[in-house]
Amino acid sequence: MIIVMSPESSQADLDHVVARIRDAGLTEHISRGSERTLVGAIGDERALSAQSFEQMAGVERAIHIVKPYKLVSREARPSGSVIDIRGIKLGGQQIQVIAGPCSVETQEQMHLAAAGVHAAGCRMMRGGAFKPRTSPYAFQGLGVQGLEFFQAAAREYQMPIVTELMDVRMLETFLKHDVDVIQIGARNMQNFDLLKEVGRVNKPVILKRGLSATISEWLMAAEYIAAGGNNNIILCERGIRTFETAYRNVLDVTAIPVLKKETHLPVLIDPSHAGGKAWMVPALARAAIAAGADGLLVEMHPNPCDAWCDADQALTPQELQDLMGSLRLIAQAIGREL
Ligand code: PEP
Ligand code: MN
Repeated sequence: MIIVMSPESSQADLDHVVARIRDAGLTEHISRGSERTLVGAIGDERALSAQSFEQMAGVERAIHIVKPYKLVSREARPSGSVIDIRGIKLGGQQIQVIAGPCSVETQEQMHLAAAGVHAAGCRMMRGGAFKPRTSPYAFQGLGVQGLEFFQAAAREYQMPIVTELMDVRMLETFLKHDVDVIQIGARNMQNFDLLKEVGRVNKPVILKRGLSATISEWLMAAEYIAAGGNNNIILCERGIRTFETAYRNVLDVTAIPVLKKETHLPVLIDPSHAGGKAWMVPALARAAIAAGADGLLVEMHPNPCDAWCDADQALTPQELQDLMGSLRLIAQAIGREL
């Protein structure tokens, strides 16, 4: 951290700053210029708060130099993380498309959905049993019965399942039902108690980006999970809120190269919740793969018109199959496979 002293600061002000640096276990490096004195705090500066220095007499500004995240930073693992999900690799050469309905509705719907996901060539399936709905009167998900329907359908094709955990109290149930990948939804990205709990288990976690979260806030949320000892983290960009109202959210494609530079964690894109309309999904999905995403999380329903949740954005099984065909060509063009 660099602490910039104001031109009017006194020697006593400087002494106080130095004392605080030493108290935190760091050492000071003082640089006296013609107009300003700069104090460098040498050591693990994550223990220091810039704000607390800025409140001190004679201090003009305090600036962090190192990134606030550590375990998830690219420097921690320059080659990038590959997450193993029951033998399926996410983050490596092969791109993974995780598809399925927004929510689990009936056993029959899940059987049809699983057949469609498998036929399209996807290796993993998504489906929500616990749904974060804007309205308390909207369908909230089938709960535990939904996990059972989901497992019964996906296991027929040996597909690992991805499903959202909203409440820490359901974590044991998720483990008991052998959920393969725990999804933390956009609305819970900064539910720190939830992040701490999934940090303690040995299950892959998909951490969706909050509706208005910056990249730094998102990576700090991932750092919570990593700090608990769980390094099986996958980030998922699902569109952010902007001034634009013509579509549900804005897919932040720019985040893909930025994340690739900043973190070793694999990156998924959810084109369904970004665009909010099925017809936008193929274009967004193709852009995401071309930009370097490691995979997609896509909503597909055996009969979108009848979907109980997010009907507008669900692809049909045939549309998913067609999309996979075009993604395969893009993957080849950038030296990857699907
Ligand atoms: C979902 O994946 O069904 C979902 C609710 O996503 P998000 O948290 O991105 O809104
Ligand atoms: Mn949905």
